Amino acid sequence: AAPLPGQAVPAAPEGRPIPAVLGADLEVPVRGGRLVPYANLDYAASAPCLEPVSAAVAAALPAYSSVHRGAGYASQLTTARYEQARHTVRAFVGARPGDAVVFTRNTTDATNLLARALPEGTTVVVFDTEHHASLLPWADAVRLAPPAFPGEAVRAADEALAALADRDGPKLLVVTAASNVTGELWPIAALAHIAHRHGARILVDAAQLVPHRPLNLTALDLDYVVFSGHKLYAPFGTGVLVGRPDWLAEAPPYLRGGGAVRAVHGGAGTAAPTTASPATADTAGTGTGTAEVEWHDDPEARHEAGTPNVLGAVALAAACDALTATGWTALVREEERLLARLRAGLAGIEGVHELSLWGPDHPRVGIVSFVVDGRTAREVAEALSNEYGIGVRDGKFCAHPFVRHLLGGVKDGGCEDTAASAVRASIGIGTTAEHVDRLVGALRELVSRG
Ligand code: PLP
Repeated sequence: AAPLPGQAVPAAPEGRPIPAVLGADLEVPVRGGRLVPYANLDYAASAPCLEPVSAAVAAALPAYSSVHRGAGYASQLTTARYEQARHTVRAFVGARPGDAVVFTRNTTDATNLLARALPEGTTVVVFDTEHHASLLPWADAVRLAPPAFPGEAVRAADEALAALADRDGPKLLVVTAASNVTGELWPIAALAHIAHRHGARILVDAAQLVPHRPLNLTALDLDYVVFSGHKLYAPFGTGVLVGRPDWLAEAPPYLRGGGAVRAVHGGAGTAAPTTASPATADTAGTGTGTAEVEWHDDPEARHEAGTPNVLGAVALAAACDALTATGWTALVREEERLLARLRAGLAGIEGVHELSLWGPDHPRVGIVSFVVDGRTAREVAEALSNEYGIGVRDGKFCAHPFVRHLLGGVKDGGCEDTAASAVRASIGIGTTAEHVDRLVGALRELVSRG
């Protein structure tokens, strides 16, 4: 079987030391007003900023100006930094030459961009295990039930795509690389293979994979990947869609405005010339004048109208550079050590149940969701914060169908109870054994209180 992305960690030469994160010395109040060091175990929501990321933004701040348009030195510098960031992201995910790298606001924005760029009549196939960002953008999707084991995911995709063989139009399979609920790694290489065998394309939601494991779009033969900067140790506000340029080059611009156009002809009181090809042109305006707009067919310019989030792109690229410079071997080794400690600790507490789709031995990134007998997830999360200074997430993690499915299989999970939720602890760079032990100790205390 093809290796899961997390299993294919390349042996790297000795890298730089693992960088520090900002906020590692943050102290937070707990009940009684005492201050304790914050144990941030909520990386899957948003990871803290890496120091080299902060330094890269600080270095860019003194001289920035508008990209792509200005002749001034600061403008040239900013344009160079922005395009360098694109280049860095391209290399980070091992994109093919010619693949588009479109900066967006986040993963959700990136999946929605692709959803709007699908050719007319595209059928989308998506697993019910997806985060809402990958589940909901599609107007009309074939939904696949959570598979009982990885091979069944591949078989289900195979059967669904085979059943669509007579349907005209392109097909797109959408799948996550690492679940934001269980952290489990999906067999994306095998799914890509199946998709392509049926003439379909594959979109991989890598939001939870890229902070933890290397991803190589070319080696895995993926058509599109999306992810967010704020889960990758950069601040909020930047995401990316990387992948095949053709659909994007022909789709209507995601936003209509400056930067996405080559030229705008006509205007008030004029008749618009009809020089541009239909693929790149349309009209804007009503009344006495009509402007004919020639849109860029370069997919990046076409879909990045308006002044982009240059500092966000610089930050995202700096995070990619920092992870690459450290090397995945060291990062994965450290994460696996802490993850094993966390899972062993949780497994040792009676009444705490880890959620998993494919069993405890399936490889996963540093994300663990669990329920606690006799207590709601909210009660547990609040107690962890208010009494122990531990930050976790509780809820359904923007994956309602999947969490409902997982809780159906856990005793006391409250199958059909719409309030049924889980607690999620997630780790990454900056997590320490003390954070993990504090969580395990706190849960043990909470459970023993009955
Ligand atoms: N996909 C996955 C797997 C996620 O975990 C998340 C965020 O939780 C998203 C997509 C959406 O990311 P964003 O909120 O940055 O758009």
